[in-house]
Amino acid sequence: RLQVDHVSCDFDGRVVVRDVSLQVAPGEIMCLLGPSGCGKSTTLRVIAGVERQNAGRILVDGQVMSDDRDHRPPEARGIGLMFQDFALFPHLSVAQNVSFGLTGPKTEKSARVTELLERVDLAGYGQKSPHMLSGGEQQRVALARALAPRPKVMLMDEPFSGLDNRLRDGIRDETLQLLKEEGTAVLLVTHEPEEAMRMADQIALMRDGQIVQQGAPYNIYNAPCDQAAAAFFSDVN
Ligand code: ATP
Ligand code: MG
Repeated sequence: RLQVDHVSCDFDGRVVVRDVSLQVAPGEIMCLLGPSGCGKSTTLRVIAGVERQNAGRILVDGQVMSDDRDHRPPEARGIGLMFQDFALFPHLSVAQNVSFGLTGPKTEKSARVTELLERVDLAGYGQKSPHMLSGGEQQRVALARALAPRPKVMLMDEPFSGLDNRLRDGIRDETLQLLKEEGTAVLLVTHEPEEAMRMADQIALMRDGQIVQQGAPYNIYNAPCDQAAAAFFSDVN
């Protein structure tokens, strides 16, 4: 479970994230939805620990990852990341890419890699080099790599926007299904209301660094908190 309590972040005195609080349960998908520049990526970077907040705290399964005293580094948070630029290591094989973040005995690692490549429909691709794969296949390898260490939380920053439309829906649906099955708490950034309506268990609507409304997609769609929120959803049908 991901818990974000009253987190703020400013750059040179300019507040970019303002008093953000949210919770995502295991197996749940929350979409962080809002216009360009409203602070979505910064919020994810703070949760990941790449950026440090000025106030508030971040917990995973009740354990403090960051508050005004402690600050765990990104790799010690049990948080997986998938960003739009999901670059694989070009000099490593597919299997080596997937096992990159894994520790422990070799046989266990290799069993996990095999299991994950099967789950993303790439059984038998382990020895290939990333450049031999299509964009969609590379994306699935990146997903397997992100899932490999069994993160409790997955942060996704428009990871599907680089894919062509034909591939995108399938890969997105499969990816999120897989994360649900693994019981991962997912925080997915998007600026497309339709995507959020379709995928989310909860939507957090962000504007100017603040979450202005939070709830089930249907509730937000039916009862937007103000005119701007209503306008944002007006194209969804
Ligand atoms: P988009 O949908 O376009 O990706 P976003 O909601 O992800 O937008 P952010 O990338 O979080 O927006 O940026 C929010 C604001 O914070 C922007 O005005 C941006 O210029 C500013 N910002 C982000 N990172 C930094 C930084 N490291 N230093 C200074 N300003 C920053
Ligand atoms: Mg962004």
